[in-house]
Amino acid sequence: MEFSILVSTFEKLERVTARTQILLYLVELFKKTDPDDIDKVVYFIQGKLWPDWKGLPELGVGEKLLLKAGSIALQVSERQLENLLRKHGDIGKVFEVVKEEREKKMPGGPGLLAFMGGPARKTVLTISRVYDTLARVAMAQGEGSRDIKLKLLAGLLMDASPKEARYIARFVEGRLRLGVGDATILDALSVVYAGSVTFRPVVERAYNLRADLGMIAKILAKEGIESLKAIKPQVGVPIRPMLAERLSSAKEILEKTGGKAVVEYKYDGERVQIHKRGEEIWLFSRRLENITHMYPDVVEMARSRIKAREAIVEGEIVAIDPETRELRPFQVLMHRRRKHDIKTAMAEIPVAVFLFDVLYADGRDLTVEPLPIRRKTLEKIIDQGENWQLAKEIVADKPEELEKFFLEAVEAGAEGVMAKAIHLKSIYQAGARGWLWIKYKRDYKSEMSDTVDLVVIGGFYGKGRRGGKIGTLLMAAYDPETDTFKSVCKVGSGFTDEDLDKMEDILRPYIRDTKPPRVESELKPDIWVEPALVAEILGAELTLSPVHTCCYGWARTGAGISIRFPRFIRWRPDKGPEDATTTKELYEMYQRQLRKIAEEATQS
Ligand code: ATP
Repeated sequence: MEFSILVSTFEKLERVTARTQILLYLVELFKKTDPDDIDKVVYFIQGKLWPDWKGLPELGVGEKLLLKAGSIALQVSERQLENLLRKHGDIGKVFEVVKEEREKKMPGGPGLLAFMGGPARKTVLTISRVYDTLARVAMAQGEGSRDIKLKLLAGLLMDASPKEARYIARFVEGRLRLGVGDATILDALSVVYAGSVTFRPVVERAYNLRADLGMIAKILAKEGIESLKAIKPQVGVPIRPMLAERLSSAKEILEKTGGKAVVEYKYDGERVQIHKRGEEIWLFSRRLENITHMYPDVVEMARSRIKAREAIVEGEIVAIDPETRELRPFQVLMHRRRKHDIKTAMAEIPVAVFLFDVLYADGRDLTVEPLPIRRKTLEKIIDQGENWQLAKEIVADKPEELEKFFLEAVEAGAEGVMAKAIHLKSIYQAGARGWLWIKYKRDYKSEMSDTVDLVVIGGFYGKGRRGGKIGTLLMAAYDPETDTFKSVCKVGSGFTDEDLDKMEDILRPYIRDTKPPRVESELKPDIWVEPALVAEILGAELTLSPVHTCCYGWARTGAGISIRFPRFIRWRPDKGPEDATTTKELYEMYQRQLRKIAEEATQS
C-alpha cells in the first residue's frame, strides 16, 4: 500500500476536530488498507512505531540530525534549511517547501530530476518501506548508529514526495499529533472489518486483554471477528487494568456488591501487573509502561515466588520502612521511578508487593472467572515471603465489619479499602471502571469526600509575584462516550514555589497554539495544552457553573459541573489522560452530594 494514501488522511485529519468526521476519515482509510499493513497504519496514526510498553528504543533523532538528513536528501545546505526553519517554525514544512520548489523548476517532474543530476525520487514509497526504515532508524544503537540513522533517513526523504517528506519529518520529531483517540480507532476498525460499530465491544474487549492496537487490528483484518472473540491474554502483552468506582458509605457499598464483599486494604503505592514466562519477568504499570528495570527486587521475588510456568498477576508495590516495616506513602515510592542509580534507590527505598489478583495461569484465562476462583488460584501459585504477600482481606456482610476493617487499614498506613464483589458474575473487567470493585477512601478534612484526577488543557499567566509565569491551570474531565476532554475548573492554589518553577518545563512539550483536538472548553486560556498531564485535585464541593462544559446540561439546563476552591495536590505521572476522572463519575459525585445535603436537611 502506498504511503501517500496515509499522508492524504493525515492532511484531512489535521483540518478537523469533530469526532464524527475523524471517524469517517479513518473508515475511508482502513477500507483502502491492505490487511498486511493495518498494524503499521494504526501505529502511524497513534504517532508511534510500536506500543510504548514494548520498551523498544525511540527514534533517537534530534533536530540537528534531521536537518542534516534533509540537507543530503534535498541537496541544500544545512544553513539554508536552518534559515527556512526560522521562518516556518516546522521542519516538515521546510522540507515540503524545498521539495516543491525543486519539482516546480523541473517541468518534467520528479523523474527528470534524476536525469538532471538533482535529487531523485526513484520509487513510490510504500507503508512498509517507510515503517521498516524508521524501525531500523530506531533500532540503530551504539557506536556508528548516528551515521546509520542519517543514511536511512536521507534515503527515505530523497524518495518522498513533498507532502510525504513533511509528515515523515513530523513523525520523526514526535510532532505528528493528530488527536485521534484509541476509542475512535476502535470504532473505525469495527465498522470496516466487522461491518458495524455494534461490534465495538468485542474489539474493545480484545484490546483490553492485549493492549496492542496494531496487533488487534491485524488479527481482526486477517482472521475476522470470531478470532477476536476467542482471544486470551498473552504473557508479555499487558492487560488493561480493571478499575474501581467510589463510594463513601459502607452500607451503600454492600448494597452495590449484593450484600457481601471481599474487603482488602487499598495500598497507597504503584499498581503493578507482573507477567511471568519461565525465568522471564515483565512488570507493567497502571499506564502499561514497562517498569521492569525499575524494580529488580520485585523481578527477583516474582521469578522465585510465582509457582506457575506462565502467569499474569496483579498487586501494589508499596514503599516500606526497612526498620519498622510500616507502609510509606505513594510520594516516597515515586523516588524509585528513575532510570539511573536504581541500585541506590533500591537500598534507600525498599518495597513490598501486595498481590490481589491473577488474570492468567498456565494456559487458563482467569479474567472470565469470578473473584473467589481467582483468589483461590492466587493463593495456590503465590509462595508468600516477607515482602511478597497477598493483600490483607476479610469477607464482610455487615457495614460495621467493613467500617472496622477500614479504620484498621487506615491505621496501618493504607489509603482505605477496596470492596470487591464475590458473586458469580464478579469477573475481571479489563479496562473498565465498574461497580464490581468499589474504593472507599475518606478525607476527613474536606467536604468533598474524595479527590479527582483531572487533565490539564490550558494555562493562564499569573499576576503580581507570579507575573509572566503560568500560575493557573485549566483542568478537564474525560468523557469516554465522545472521547473528549471537558473543562471542569481552574486551579491556582495548592502549588508550592517549586511546583510553579517547574511548571513551564512540565507543560512545554504539550503547548499548542490552538485548541487541541478532543478538547471542549468555552473558556479560552492564555495557552492551550494538549491533554497529556494528569493532576490530583481536591475541592470544597461540586457546584454548577455556566462556563464549564463538563456534564453540560445534565443537572441543569445551561450549566455544567465544576469544583469550588480546587487545590492542586500532586501530579499523577502514573495516569494517562484517558485514565482521568470521567464526566459520568463527576455527575455521580454531584448526585451523591445532593442526596447527602437532603439527608442532613431532613435529619436536622
Ligand atoms: P486512585 O486514584 O484512588 O489511586 P486509581 O484511579 O488509580 O485510584 P482506581 O480504580 O480508582 O484507580 O483504584 C484502584 C487502584 O487502587 C488500583 O489501580 C491500585 O493501584 C490501587 N490498589 C491498592 N490496593 C488495591 C487492592 N487491594 N485491589 C485493587 N487495587 C488496589
